[in-house]
This record gives sequence, C-alpha cells and structure tokens, in this order.
Amino acid sequence: MKQHHNRRHFIGSLAGGAAVAIAPQSTRPTTTSGPEPDLVVVNANVHTVDSRNSRAEAFAVKGDRFVAVGSTSDMRALAGKNTQMYDAKQMAIVPGFIDCHNHAPGTTLLYEVLVGNPYEVEFVTISSIVEKLRARAKETPPGTWVDGYFFDDTKVKDKRELDASDLDEVSLDHPVVVRHRGGHTSYYNHKALEMAGITKNTPNPPGGTYDRNKAGDLTGRVTDLARSAIDRVGIRRTFTPEQREQRDRDGLAFISKQFVRYGLTSVHHEGGNLRALQDVRARGELLHRVSFEISGNVLESMITSGIATGFGDEWIRFGATSEHTVDGSFSERTMALSKPYPGVQPAYQGNITTTQTDLNTWVERVHRAGIQINCHANGDVAIDMMLAAVERAQKLFPRADARPKITHCTLVNDDLIRRMKALNAVPALFTSYAYYNTDKFVFYGEDLMKRSMAFRSLLDAGIHATAGSDFSPGPFATLMGIQGMVTRTGWDGKTWGANQRVSVDEALQINTLNGAYASFEENIKGSITAGKLADFVVLSDDLHNVDKERIKDIIIVRTVVGGNTVYQV
Ligand SMILES: [Zn+2]
Repeated sequence: MKQHHNRRHFIGSLAGGAAVAIAPQSTRPTTTSGPEPDLVVVNANVHTVDSRNSRAEAFAVKGDRFVAVGSTSDMRALAGKNTQMYDAKQMAIVPGFIDCHNHAPGTTLLYEVLVGNPYEVEFVTISSIVEKLRARAKETPPGTWVDGYFFDDTKVKDKRELDASDLDEVSLDHPVVVRHRGGHTSYYNHKALEMAGITKNTPNPPGGTYDRNKAGDLTGRVTDLARSAIDRVGIRRTFTPEQREQRDRDGLAFISKQFVRYGLTSVHHEGGNLRALQDVRARGELLHRVSFEISGNVLESMITSGIATGFGDEWIRFGATSEHTVDGSFSERTMALSKPYPGVQPAYQGNITTTQTDLNTWVERVHRAGIQINCHANGDVAIDMMLAAVERAQKLFPRADARPKITHCTLVNDDLIRRMKALNAVPALFTSYAYYNTDKFVFYGEDLMKRSMAFRSLLDAGIHATAGSDFSPGPFATLMGIQGMVTRTGWDGKTWGANQRVSVDEALQINTLNGAYASFEENIKGSITAGKLADFVVLSDDLHNVDKERIKDIIIVRTVVGGNTVYQV
C-alpha cells in the first residue's frame, strides 16, 4: 500500500518535472550535462507543503529546481554517477521559510552597538548596556553621538526603566541614545537633553512626550515625534559615498547569512539599497531571495517608467510597495482602535497617520500603475480605511488578482475578514510576537488578543495569511514564529487568544507557500514540488513530533537555496 502510494507520487512528480524543460529561457535552470540529477536527497521525512502529496521520503534536484519527489528507492534509481547523494537520516525537511515583512537592517547589525539580542529572547542588565556604550564612547570624539540599538524595555533583568542617569555613566561628553527595537521610543543621557535645550519645563510637542518621573524630572525616555528635536543636535559620524556603499553591501551580506542561519530562503525587504543588493548578488554573497518593496523615489520611478510588480528575477524582484503607513504601532501601543485602549485615561484610540482622501489618492495611483498595494494597518480602524481605498480603486479600475497586501493586519473582525476575502487581500501578520512579545499583550487584554494576529479566523475564511516578522521590532526566527502560532504561549508561559491557534501544518504553509503567494510566486516556490526552485531546510527534529513548547529549539541543520547549501551547522 505504502509502495503504491509513493509510486503514484513519484510518477506525478516526474510529470511535473517535465514542465521544467519547456519553461521559458529566463526561468530555465542551469543544469549539468546529462539527464541525471545533481543532487538526490534520500531517507528524509519530507513535509512538502504540496497538497497533492504532502509527505515524501526523498527528492531529486537538477540545477536550481526540484525535478522529482517520491520514495527513497525511486529517487535512488534516478541517480547517476555524478549525482551527489545526501542521506538525511530520517531528519525532517520542509520548504525554505518566507518572511513577508522585514526591515533587514544589516548595517545596524554589523556596525552598531547592539544592547539587546536581535534574534532571541534574552534578558540583559542595564550595566551591560552601559559597558557596551562606554567602549564605543572611548573611540568616539566628544560631542559625537553614541548610539545603542535593539533595546527592549520588557527584556531587562533589573526590572526597572533605563534612565538618563544610567546613560550619564556612559559619558558626560557625548550625547548618548539607546533606541527601542520597536522604533518609537528612545532613551537619552542628560548631555543629549541639554544639547537640545530640553528641560523639565519643556512642554511636550504634538505627537510625542519627554517623559518625567514623579518628581517632575526628565527620565530620558522620549517618545515618537518628540525625538526629532534631540536627534537634530550633536555631531553624527559621517561616511563618504564609497563608505556608505561598502557598509550597505557588507550589511546586506551579513544579514543574508543570518537569514539562512534561521532557515529563511526568501525575505520581503522594506526598501534598502537596490544597487548594493545587486553588487552583493554579483559577488555571490546574496544567499536568500529578495522581494524588494519600495516607496519614495524608487516607487515614483517605477510608476513613471512602467515597472510593475513582478519585474526582476528569482533572486531580486520588485514586489509590493513598502508599507504605506495608515496607523501606529502594536508593540508600542499607538495603533488605531475603534474603541479606546483598555484602562487608559484619558480615553485614547491610537494614531491615524493619513487621511482617507490621501490614502485613496495614493492607492489609486499605485494600483493603476500595476503595482501591488501594501499598507501598514494594525488597528481595525486602519484596516477598514485601507480596504475602503482598495475597494474604491478596484471599482474605478478593476484589476483581477491584485492581491493587496496588508502589513501587520493585527486586529480584525468578521466584517473586515469578509471584505479582505472579497478583495483577495494578503495579510502579513506578526509571527514571533506571540512568543516574544506576550509581555506587551497585557496592554490590550484577552478580548482584543482573541481578534489579534488572527491566523485561525483568516485561514478559516480562505485568506492567504502570511508571516511578517517586522524585524527589527520582532525577531525573524521562523521556528519561534511557528511555535507562537501553534501555542499562542509566550516566553513567560502566558497564553493569549488561544482561539487563534493553528496546526503545525497550517503554520508551515503560512511560512512557506502562502509567503510565495503574497509575491505572486506560488508557481515557482513555497513547496517541495517538482519544477519549483529547490529551496529547502533540513531540521534536526520534526515539528510535528516535538513538544510544541520546543519547536523554536529545533536546530536548522542545513539551508539550501536553488540547490546550493548556503548554511549548515
Ligand atoms: Zn514594518
């Protein structure tokens, strides 16, 4: 019975493989001479994420594509004398992971002082932060900024707020700032506050605060728009254009290594240096595939020159726009809610950062240009505004299969889900938050968390929900994300919105095939299917068999992109 089952898969796969030969020139893999595969993987526990044959033991790769998927014996039979054999020893293999929202700050990771752990839950001490910054201050001329990155206020061992006096210990001669990984709050030393002329009597500007303690003194914590007055003063390290290019290149090459270390084979980048990206690729150091999402001048030049979504190739392709911001943040509690934030006085409903009219204009223009819309919309109010703008644009200029992308799409309700389905919207929800950021869910409460990061509700409605880590704010480790989607339990053992749990298989599909769908690439990647790009990950343990609380600890044994091993332990 098993034999017959596998045989059928094998034949089906070969039929799929034949399609490769007639693929257009641009997508045809480069193959070695002869009919035999370059690589045959056997004795594996393959989860293909292909609904036609979800399990397999083995597969064959030729050039950069899978050419057959099936049983170990059938795949062995395909091997020739030049075929490389890989015995997976019953380890699990899944398609390469896809992150649909990532700010990819490679230069920060490579060159800046990291006062928190970008990748994992790790508690740090305030003294460790001070020490790291002090070392940087020693090599920095007085008056020039000393910056710390990846701070998380809920991951501090001292169990108190970092404050200006702590940062005075770094230096009294340098302005010092520690930036929260969420991107909306910063902590300054007194020197920085003084240089900006901020005193305890300075009123808060619109859209921000200079936080004060009970005695009325400045704490050093400054939020949102209030930061700009401080960030304007002092001397910044400067770089020549050549140095900047070099930093961008090296930063991208560095983060590419980190992505594949965590099993990511495709990442949607929020902007970045396109030229540096191409240089890194040319020097053979781009290890993951990029869906390039842009705004500003590059988006303008796409529109004016007629470049639509999909332009590019399997390594670097123009995807949706980058996130067009409609409201505030989830982790820093400024997203736009239809009802006031629980327990906040005076009543506060978050920030809307555009008008419906401006949003309509932007959406219509981008939509007409054949470019995939992508809006940052967290709260239900913002999601409603975005959907209204897309509904309007579709009415005026109907376009089939536009797949408007909703970045974050955090808080939903039945009506929003129905409208998303009607538009075939692709939401990219926070993934690692359900494990990493449960210490912040208490600000929303269980009632809202039942409708937040609502993977269950979206999948049940037939929506292609995808994974968007939002790195830097969220770690991009896909296995951490999957654990959170499956358990809805955080590092602190607390469970929120258990009604939104999904199965391991669903979580896998969200992080692979659905991600490919979000960039219109479901026919070339996202599953282990003959004819698709050979992007896959070898795992030390099967996600289905380990304790659900240990999924994040599974070791990425090997990451393969286009048939090439780009990472191994
Ligand atoms: Zn973002």
